[in-house]
Amino acid sequence: MVTEADVKAKLALVTGPDRQGDLVSLGMIEGLSIRGDRVTFVIRVPAARARELEPMRQAAEQVVAEIPGIAGVTAVLTAERDPNAKPPEIPSLKPAAAKKPTPHGGLKPKAPIADVAAVIAVASGKGGVGKSTTSVNLALALKAEGKRVGLLDADIYGPSLPRMLGSTLRPEQVDKRMKPVEAQGLQVMSMGFLVDEAAPMVWRGPMVMSALTQMMREVDWGPLDVLVVDMPPGTGDAQLTLCQSVPLAGAVIVSTPQDIALIDARKGLNMFRKVEVPVLGIIENMSYFLCPSCGDRSDIFGHGGAREEAAKLGVPFLGEIPLHMEIRRNSDAGTPVVASEPDGPHAGAYRAIARGVLAQMAAEPATA
Ligand code: ADP
Repeated sequence: MVTEADVKAKLALVTGPDRQGDLVSLGMIEGLSIRGDRVTFVIRVPAARARELEPMRQAAEQVVAEIPGIAGVTAVLTAERDPNAKPPEIPSLKPAAAKKPTPHGGLKPKAPIADVAAVIAVASGKGGVGKSTTSVNLALALKAEGKRVGLLDADIYGPSLPRMLGSTLRPEQVDKRMKPVEAQGLQVMSMGFLVDEAAPMVWRGPMVMSALTQMMREVDWGPLDVLVVDMPPGTGDAQLTLCQSVPLAGAVIVSTPQDIALIDARKGLNMFRKVEVPVLGIIENMSYFLCPSCGDRSDIFGHGGAREEAAKLGVPFLGEIPLHMEIRRNSDAGTPVVASEPDGPHAGAYRAIARGVLAQMAAEPATA
C-alpha cells in the first residue's frame, strides 16, 4: 500500500519556486489524501504566482503518478491572499457607471467545454435552500426530457452530490483526463469522488478555481446536451469567477419563500446580470408544506410571493417544489425523487421546471 511517506519522498524531488528547496521541505504540501490508488494534495503558493507555477504543479502530479500502484493524481494550487494587497479589480465590479457592461464582465470569453452543447448554473443566495437537491432532480428531469446530461458539483467546500446520487465510485483516469462517474444515467463529477468527505481540506482563493477548472475542463464529459453546474452557495468572488470562466447558457436561481422576500435571491440575480449571464428563472423550493400522512397543503410561508417577486424583478418564474418528506428522504438516501418515483407528483413538478428551463434556453439564441 502506498503511504504518505512514499508520496512525500517523491514530492521532495520537485524543486520549489525560484529553484530553491523542494516542495516538502518548503512546507508547501497540504491536504495530502491517499484513497486506494488515488492521491490528492494541494500545493501552497503565493497568490500572485499561481499561474506561473502551473508547470511545478504538473511536475508534482507526474512524480507521484510514477509510484507503482497509483492510478490517479490530482494536485491543485492554493494561494493565500496577502492581507495588505488590494483586491483584484474585476472589470464588471468597477463602478464605471456610464459604461455599458460587456458580456462576461469585459473579460475575454473563455472557450466552451469540449463536447458540451450548453452549461447552466444552479445558484442560490445562501446555503441550505435545497440548491443541490434541486440540481440533482433538475438534471434527472432534463434527462427524462430526452437530453444527455452531466452534473458538476462545484460546491467543493461541501460536496454532497455523491451522497445524493448514492455513488461512491471514483472517476477513471485515462491519459491525465478523467472520466465522469455515471450515476443514475447522469455524467457526474464531484470533489467528493476524489477526497474523503472527512478529509480536512482548506480551500483558498485561487486554489478553488484551479480545482474547478480541472473538474470542468480535464474531464471527458461529452457528448452532452446540458451540463448542470451545482454552484457553491452564495454570491462571492468564487462564484463570480466561475461564471466568467465558461460560457454559460444561463443560470437558475433556487430560493425559499423566506429568502426571496429577503435580499439573498436578488444578490444571485445581480451577480449574473453583472456578467451578462441570462437568468433562466427562479425556482421556489420548500414552497409549501405537503403533509405526508394526510396530503394537506399548508402555506406556512405564505404563497405566491416568489412568483410576484420574479415578475417584479423581470425574470421568469420556473415553478415551485413543496417541502415534502419524500424529497428529503430520497435526496439524503441517494435515490433522488425524479429517478426513484418517476411517475409521482414531485417528478412531475421537476419535469415541468426542466421544460421551462429548456424553453428559456431556446429563447436565448445568443448563448444557448
Ligand atoms: P443546499 O445545496 O442549498 O445547501 P441541500 O440541497 O443540501 O441544500 O438541502 C438541504 C437539506 O434540505 C437536505 O437535507 C435536503 O434533503 C433537504 N431538502 C431540500 N429540498 C427539499 C424539499 N423540497 N423538501 C424537503 N426537504 C428538502
